[in-house]
Amino acid sequence: MIPLPNSYLAIRMKKPIDILKEYFGYRAFRDKQEEIIQTVLEGKDTLVLMPTGGGKSVCYQIPAMVKEGLCLVVSPLISLMQDQVEALKQNGIAAAYINSTQTVSEQRYIAEQCLRKAIKLLYISPEKVQTERFQNFLRSLHVNLIAIDEAHCISSWGHDFRPEYGQLGELRQRFPEIPMIALTATADELTRKDIIDQLHLQNPQSFVSSFDRPNLRLEVRPGQDRIKQIIAFLNDHKEDSGIIYCLSRKSTESLAEKLRKKGFNAAPYHARLPDNQKAKVLRDFLRDDVRIVCATIAFGMGIDKSNVRFVIHYNLPKNLESYYQEIGRAGRDGVDSETVLFYTYADVMMHRKIIEGEDSKKKELKVAKLERLQQFAESSTCRRKVLLSYFSEPFEKKCENCDVCSNPRKTFDATIIAQKALSAVYRLQQQVGIKTAIDVLRGSHAQNVTSKGYHTIKTFGVGRDISFFNWQNYFHQLLNLSYLTIAYDQHNALKITPKAHDVLFKKEKVFLVKAQSQVVATPIPTKTKTEEAADALFERLRKLRKVLADEQQVPPYVVFNDETLKQMASKRPTTREAMLEISGVGLRKMAFYGDDFMNEIIDFMVTDGQKLKGGTLITTYHFFQQGKTPEQIAKERDMSTMTIYNHLIKLYKKDYKIDLRRLIGQEELDEIIATAKSIEKENEERRLKPVFEALEGKYNYDKIRIGMELMEG
Ligand code: ADP
Ligand code: ZN
Repeated sequence: MIPLPNSYLAIRMKKPIDILKEYFGYRAFRDKQEEIIQTVLEGKDTLVLMPTGGGKSVCYQIPAMVKEGLCLVVSPLISLMQDQVEALKQNGIAAAYINSTQTVSEQRYIAEQCLRKAIKLLYISPEKVQTERFQNFLRSLHVNLIAIDEAHCISSWGHDFRPEYGQLGELRQRFPEIPMIALTATADELTRKDIIDQLHLQNPQSFVSSFDRPNLRLEVRPGQDRIKQIIAFLNDHKEDSGIIYCLSRKSTESLAEKLRKKGFNAAPYHARLPDNQKAKVLRDFLRDDVRIVCATIAFGMGIDKSNVRFVIHYNLPKNLESYYQEIGRAGRDGVDSETVLFYTYADVMMHRKIIEGEDSKKKELKVAKLERLQQFAESSTCRRKVLLSYFSEPFEKKCENCDVCSNPRKTFDATIIAQKALSAVYRLQQQVGIKTAIDVLRGSHAQNVTSKGYHTIKTFGVGRDISFFNWQNYFHQLLNLSYLTIAYDQHNALKITPKAHDVLFKKEKVFLVKAQSQVVATPIPTKTKTEEAADALFERLRKLRKVLADEQQVPPYVVFNDETLKQMASKRPTTREAMLEISGVGLRKMAFYGDDFMNEIIDFMVTDGQKLKGGTLITTYHFFQQGKTPEQIAKERDMSTMTIYNHLIKLYKKDYKIDLRRLIGQEELDEIIATAKSIEKENEERRLKPVFEALEGKYNYDKIRIGMELMEG
């Protein structure tokens, strides 16, 4: 466990950007972070809306560090608190939490630390804040800021309403002089306003970031053969962590079971599991011990894991908000991540049924939201455009990171297909749903057809040439284009619209997007040699990270996130300076992990045997670090000893950790230094030769160089 820094006083007076660099290891602020921090520092109330992974935390963490005093952070889940505190400590920032998992004496210890001004950020649950006792305790502290994380939990309009949050408004009244910052990833207008009202924020400045998550690939796929598609996907992502969302508890279990049988490291998660089992799955997932979680939406807010590389929706979510929130759990570290939504009409019907069965005033709204999701799934324009426009954010370009952009939809004259479909519906008296209509078109003798005599109508079998699945696709398009509607109150029967009349009776043309019976897999670009090497190194760094994380019992991404490892794998830093250039490596982590990671990189470069720039130096370094003498290295590498000494001195000058003292005794060093100094007085410059000569050949040139190098260093 990393000890707390002795005092935080040293942090004060630093500029936000310096704190970002030194503690968090990041080069620059993102988007609105700097502006937000400035506003908070001015003592104003602030509301921050940023998507998941946008970087909300530093918006209160850095002001807390710049200002004198302590920042109180209200956070809804114990697991979130623990994660955040661990991440801060790893960066050398004095943080702690008080919650029910601790003993009374542990809680008292933290409280004392706060009073001693040894804590900069104190995480706390909303329940705890309400207590009289805690509020009295707060009065004895110098609180510089109150941060309300996941602030949408205060609003009953939001999707995560928590009654414990309801009382937080009082906090504002009890501590009117302390500025507040509320943070959430929930965008909608109503919730936003509600947060401000409920928390009694005073003239708050609101910051709304773009909700686009460019590193998330958006893909919607037809839901046939889902299991097969998922297995193929997982085979392409052998080392990655991901979540597969299912609608029912049962399907989480059966899917996880199927995947396990195929050799994948998968576990189910749903609300009805015993608490200890839920906690175990979550912990194993965070620590990369379980790779795939097949979950219901119960698996949600506590997942702060930054290296979730994919989110798959086995079933359709209930609306776009849920969809976006769920896929948002992928790629928090900014590294490219994939999302796949399997879309079937059966799922639409299922959601309909659920909504119909509910006793809610919001039925109509729910249905409308489901329809928006359908439109998204069936759209033939850029997915991101549709999605962001739903969240009232204009997006004028093509994203080039969704299935539509990589595979633009082509329309064709589908008048005949449309006529067949519409006339089948018409002749079936507008009494049947999609499945039966297709069965009739395809000339099926299934019971649902023959029992009603549908095999005798004129359109029976006229659509045999088109697969069931493609017919389904065309029906969906006809629905979306308003040629058909569904009467949900009449067993989902298809109905003809006036627009369809024009097709059937006035020969209006219809254009549809060509249905593809097979999903066209996006071709995986072939990798260059350098990229492959970077991947191999990444895997090694990832293994090292796991070992280091397990030693401390923290999730691996807390040590370094995937983005940081990616940069290490491609830039291969082997010096302290180069290491500190990597995003995510601050001073604390450099001190704790820098050497381990540099050694791994060097080891890789040597064993990889690639001719790399500086490769020969690195090899010498590597051998030297293994304890070999310059002579042994020279022999092994078939080089002159002088060359090896040259290497070592170069490395030393370049800030490598080279212990030159191994090469020279103390007496030898003293003698060389004394000689050099006596000569220096006479000559302006330091030269090897005069020293060598003055010592009358007692030491060779190599030794003298080492001695003089040490004299300077
Ligand atoms: P949120 O709370 O908005 O979901 P976090 O605060 O957890 O997001 O930040 C997401 C990730 O981005 C974290 O790994 C965080 O360290 C990183 N991050 C935050 N700010 C920056 C920045 N300026 N540059 C690079 N990475 C950043
Ligand atoms: Zn796109």
